[in-house]
Amino acid sequence: MTTTAPRDEQLWSRCDGCASLLYRKRLRRNLDVCPECGTHTRLDAPDRVAQLVDPDSFVPLPDRAVRVDPIDFVDALPYPHRLGAARASTGLDEAVLCGTARLGGHPVALAVMDFRFLGGSLGCAVGELITRTAERALADGVPLVLVTASGGARMQEGALSLMQMATVSQALAGLREAGLLTVSVVTDPTYGGVAASFATNTDVVLAESGARLGFAGPRVIRQVTGAALPEGFQTAEYLLRHGQVDMVVPRHALRGRLAALLAAAGAARRPTPPAPRPAAAGAPAVARPARDPWETVRTARHPGRPTTLDYLETAFDGFVELHGDRLGADCPAVVGGVARLDGRPVMVIGHQKGHTTAELVARNFGMASPAGHRKALRLMRLAARLRLPVVTLVDTPGADPGVAAEQQGQAAAIAENILALSVLPTPVVAVVTGEGGSGGALALAVADRVLMLEHAVYSVISPEGCAAILWPDSAAAPQAARALRLTGADLCRLGVVDELVPEPYPAAHGDPAGAAELLRRAVAANLAPLLTVPPATLVRRRRQRFRRFGAARSVDPSARATAPPRRAAVDDRPEVA
Ligand SMILES: [Zn+2]
Repeated sequence: MTTTAPRDEQLWSRCDGCASLLYRKRLRRNLDVCPECGTHTRLDAPDRVAQLVDPDSFVPLPDRAVRVDPIDFVDALPYPHRLGAARASTGLDEAVLCGTARLGGHPVALAVMDFRFLGGSLGCAVGELITRTAERALADGVPLVLVTASGGARMQEGALSLMQMATVSQALAGLREAGLLTVSVVTDPTYGGVAASFATNTDVVLAESGARLGFAGPRVIRQVTGAALPEGFQTAEYLLRHGQVDMVVPRHALRGRLAALLAAAGAARRPTPPAPRPAAAGAPAVARPARDPWETVRTARHPGRPTTLDYLETAFDGFVELHGDRLGADCPAVVGGVARLDGRPVMVIGHQKGHTTAELVARNFGMASPAGHRKALRLMRLAARLRLPVVTLVDTPGADPGVAAEQQGQAAAIAENILALSVLPTPVVAVVTGEGGSGGALALAVADRVLMLEHAVYSVISPEGCAAILWPDSAAAPQAARALRLTGADLCRLGVVDELVPEPYPAAHGDPAGAAELLRRAVAANLAPLLTVPPATLVRRRRQRFRRFGAARSVDPSARATAPPRRAAVDDRPEVA
């Protein structure tokens, strides 16, 4: 915002976005967001702290910046002159304000950068102060929130400023090892060495509306490449689409979003209360009167069937969606984030389909890309660090079979998830809610307890695909459906699934709210006994659970002559897997 005539300086400012003349008090009340066009004005660190934390809760860190000029830097002005001017004009020691506070009642350590101070540049003092804030978080056992606003490393301190990227990152690694949540709030602008370290290597990255973040600035990129930049390049929305940030949050919602994340991380760290055993949910591992498996396949694919986001609305509370694989994409076919189940924080990850054709297309029919699997992996690992149980909701025809998916390593992405889940040191409950299609389903279903909705299916291949290969006529899909043993009842008998979750009559799409309630009860009942099991025991049992499906047995040498040769269990046709 630009102030107008000196006389009106305190009363009016002009919006840089829409040029409206705004009454300053009104602008302030609106958290310095233009009420006309939504432009988010840059905030200095004291104002930012005041907006974010609970009133009167901020206590500055006792540490003070040391005045340094490590390389005797002089340009038009000696560096100490510039430092002195920045101090005088901002009233701050350095380009960051650090302290402890409460946010939504949750204790937190926070460091807030101030762009007015030499462009928020990262020098030795800034790096040291942020590192001490992280150390304070570790000592107090509380989460760390970093609010970034920076042009990058401070060139007046030469390579020593570059070293600060490593210093702060190491401190974040310590919090990661301790299972303490780290969150960065990226504000405009965040570039260079700050973007390439603590703005993005925290557990969760929030971007304030209007923020731009990048390693190189647009001017440099244009000079180097000579190319025009894409629409919205490096804006928060662009970064969200490309998997670089978890969410874009308007300023008025920042406090609430941070509080929700801190609540999830904080509650998970409290000792587990003796788990109340909810009334036994779900049918025993026996289905109701059998219907034709092909009919079950069609029910599992019914467009009115509740999706993962529907269940997150109904069976869970307080869902905060996290986005992106941090490598280049945010796959719409996989959704995930923190939520509460019966008041207990959990990480929920699931495939997302849709009810209309437009929704299905937008979600790629629930077929995850490698980015979707990598997003899921990121959230699983975050859950383990924060000691949050993981609940997965499986509903996919299979992993995305496209060319781009192959080029981006679909097979390896699935493989990595299966491996990671098999050693994840936190409880995992998987529920096949609709279609459990092949490796794409298993990538979310290596769990301590595997549940299946009454009319869901879980199969190595679609009945159509199987029919086309083996009959070979896709019209034989109903026969293939019967042959594949893909219903919940069959899979319970085979030990692949532990429990069936009943659905309201005739099926979940007829009564989504009822289905959600049955799902909630079943997940809670299956999760409760896992919460008190030590992580190492959980992992050992999970591995044993999946080991039992092996088909080999030790052969008694004397019996070998009479044993008939076993038919290979694995078909060599690549489509089958
Ligand atoms: Zn405006």
